[in-house]
Amino acid sequence: MLQYYSPSLTSYQRLKTREVKIGGLLLGNGHPIRIQTMTTTDTMDTDATVAQSIRCIEAGAELVRITAPSKKEAENLQAIKDKIRAAGYNTPLVADIHFTPNAAEIAARIVEKVRVNPGNYIDKKKFDTIEYTDAEYAAEIDRIRERFTPLVKICKEYGTAMRIGTNHGSLSDRIMSRYGDSAIGMVESAMEFLRIARYENYHQIILSMKSSNPQVMVQAYRLLVRQMDEEFGENYPLHLGVTEAGDGEDGRIKSAIGIGTLLEDGIGDTIRVSLTEDPEFEIPVCKDIVSRYNGRSNHAPIPPINEGEKINLPYDPFSYNRRASHTVGNIGGHHVPVVIANFQEEEKIHHADLQAIGYKYDEATDKWNIGDGAADYICTGNKLIDFALPGTLQVICNYDTWSNATDKTKYHPIFDAPNYMSATSIPDNLHFIAIDANADWNFITGLLDKIRSAPNAVLCIGSTNAHHMASVRRLLIALMQQKINNPVILCAQNSNKTIDEQLIDLATNTGGLLLDGFGDGIWLWNNTHEMQNLKTTGRTYLEVKNNHQFLNNTAFSILQASRTRISKTEYISCPSCGRTLFDLQETTAKIRNATNHLKGVKIAIMGCIVNGPGEMADADFGYVGSGPGKITLYRGKEVVKRNVPSEIAVDELIGLLKENEAWIEPAEA
Ligand code: SF4
Repeated sequence: MLQYYSPSLTSYQRLKTREVKIGGLLLGNGHPIRIQTMTTTDTMDTDATVAQSIRCIEAGAELVRITAPSKKEAENLQAIKDKIRAAGYNTPLVADIHFTPNAAEIAARIVEKVRVNPGNYIDKKKFDTIEYTDAEYAAEIDRIRERFTPLVKICKEYGTAMRIGTNHGSLSDRIMSRYGDSAIGMVESAMEFLRIARYENYHQIILSMKSSNPQVMVQAYRLLVRQMDEEFGENYPLHLGVTEAGDGEDGRIKSAIGIGTLLEDGIGDTIRVSLTEDPEFEIPVCKDIVSRYNGRSNHAPIPPINEGEKINLPYDPFSYNRRASHTVGNIGGHHVPVVIANFQEEEKIHHADLQAIGYKYDEATDKWNIGDGAADYICTGNKLIDFALPGTLQVICNYDTWSNATDKTKYHPIFDAPNYMSATSIPDNLHFIAIDANADWNFITGLLDKIRSAPNAVLCIGSTNAHHMASVRRLLIALMQQKINNPVILCAQNSNKTIDEQLIDLATNTGGLLLDGFGDGIWLWNNTHEMQNLKTTGRTYLEVKNNHQFLNNTAFSILQASRTRISKTEYISCPSCGRTLFDLQETTAKIRNATNHLKGVKIAIMGCIVNGPGEMADADFGYVGSGPGKITLYRGKEVVKRNVPSEIAVDELIGLLKENEAWIEPAEA
């Protein structure tokens, strides 16, 4: 029996799904989580596509997807497949289809799997709002059945698998009209196609619910699992991905939050990390994400949520609501989540050290310049700071150190939970308690009793349990059940070797909780002091100078990706594919350079006009390839400048931002 959407919210288990055979690869039904990517070459360039596919396979891809925008590309899949097989690789190939059933019907006879997008397989998106009567809606479903069934029959005949891949940004007008731009609309979009396939007794199906917003994506997958379970009493395997995640650190963090949150609860049979980078660089990130679950089921036990059969969560895992907390200082209530920087291990703290966490000191004027990504608290352990701090920065330190501090409005003590239990003197004002959610549950129960009468305590919760997120979530559920509303800081520590592993670990362990509305702050630390000791598994993409800056950036990026605190420009860039009409990586870097000071503005950079506008989701402005050397600019979903020559398109985009009062000069920012 499912616990809402997962086999268990406290004990790591994979969700039971049907087994699907894709060529020689078995997926679902407890088989290892498969890793895949998608080529970015022109499908008509056979040699380039073969070479890139082989690079991806060599990097570890277990499935390679290739776009087939029209019949000619679908036909060319045969030449591509022949060459890959001749080179000795049996990795299954997947045809990516949008808008063209004819291409799908050709590809299904050639490759091992086809992916269709139910938002545009049959429907052309016109952004029309039509009111459908029930009879009209049923007639639409009949129309889909008529057009989709031939593909199902071909797949059955040729033993071809299929992914029904819904994208949040490209829901059909029919779905939008009835369900709106919602997670439930995404689910229904896939279910319409899945019901038709089941009617034909075709089950070689995998489903996906992608969005560039990890919150929407996670809710949609959870709802889909519940819906399949209720309607069919079984689940089909799930392909996980965050679309248009972007590049570098942000792309990895967004992907880790979306994909990792679901994997933590046992959901997901195959993953693709969509980065605006060469596809082979996606594979090490996938491996890092998947490897977190090796041996996970051996984690220390976490107390079950309810004693009886059925659990009753005190929050809704299918829609976002922030956990209600009362305010202590600037933490909790309606305050955005705070960021805490960890300087406990530094021998001495200097003015210049604070630059890494967003505070730049100008000696000549004796003033601090405060960035949008400036930490709110600094934990100094057993040290006091011997210079005047910036006005927005406060200090957390050990109790004895705090006793010696003269300015008690700036300094606040922290206790670890056992010391807090034995402490005879607790300050009346803001203080922090560090809690390991993996501690003995009897101890936790006693601790919560004491906290109930400590309204000014802020709880810093981490876990030494290998199933970190579920362990912290269990304690948060206990707080909610017992109506203890003290603010909570989510703590995560790791000692992973590579930057990618650290980003993925920190983002999954905290981001998944933020998506469920938990957390009034975030506190990250690691055991690595020197960035030189950190290595990337892909290519070098970070420009951070030291570990404090790395952790501070990561904290703000996690808050941004979970949409709980916006501190920078948001980029929604497609991963590119054979349809892409310009160099996406170079253009994304150019646009990022020009606009990365525009806090809160969402800019989409999309490779083609066929899918780009639909996939831009909730971007404020769009930069979309509309022909070779031509760019079309959008404000929301509205075209404002058509076919601008690409040499001047970034300047035109800046002009558009200015016309819409979304621009500020970098110096002012
Ligand atoms: S938006 Fe990007 S990834 Fe999607 S089809 Fe167009 S070029 Fe390919």
